Amino acid sequence: MLGYVYRGKGDFALEEREKPVIRDPKDAIVKVSLASICTSDLHIKHGSVPRAVPGIIVGHEMVGIVEETGSQVCRVKAGDRVTVNVETWCGECFFCQHGYVNNCTDPQGGWALGCRIDGGQAE
Ligand SMILES: [Zn+2]
Ligand SMILES: [Zn+2]
Repeated sequence: MLGYVYRGKGDFALEEREKPVIRDPKDAIVKVSLASICTSDLHIKHGSVPRAVPGIIVGHEMVGIVEETGSQVCRVKAGDRVTVNVETWCGECFFCQHGYVNNCTDPQGGWALGCRIDGGQAE
């Protein structure tokens, strides 16, 4: 599949990538049908997001169709049309329990999508 990849400050490219696979029982794979570009993506472009990992596919605002879910996913199933939340969270840490999921302490939590893990500017 094609993905729009952050390669370093000011350097992006459309690259061929492997299709994603379920890595965690709470994962879902979504086939993106629409995605948008956010000012935060421009911040990555300008080098203003030091935690952005070179090599990741950017994009954290998209909708699509669920293709596959991990064994612990219970609210969506393959074929469902979904909006993807910019924040990923564990639901169990102090911040998640108090509604501040953007501060989730999980290594994949907070704003990780399209910043520290592959995002939605892809198929
Ligand atoms: Zn955004
Ligand atoms: Zn959390």
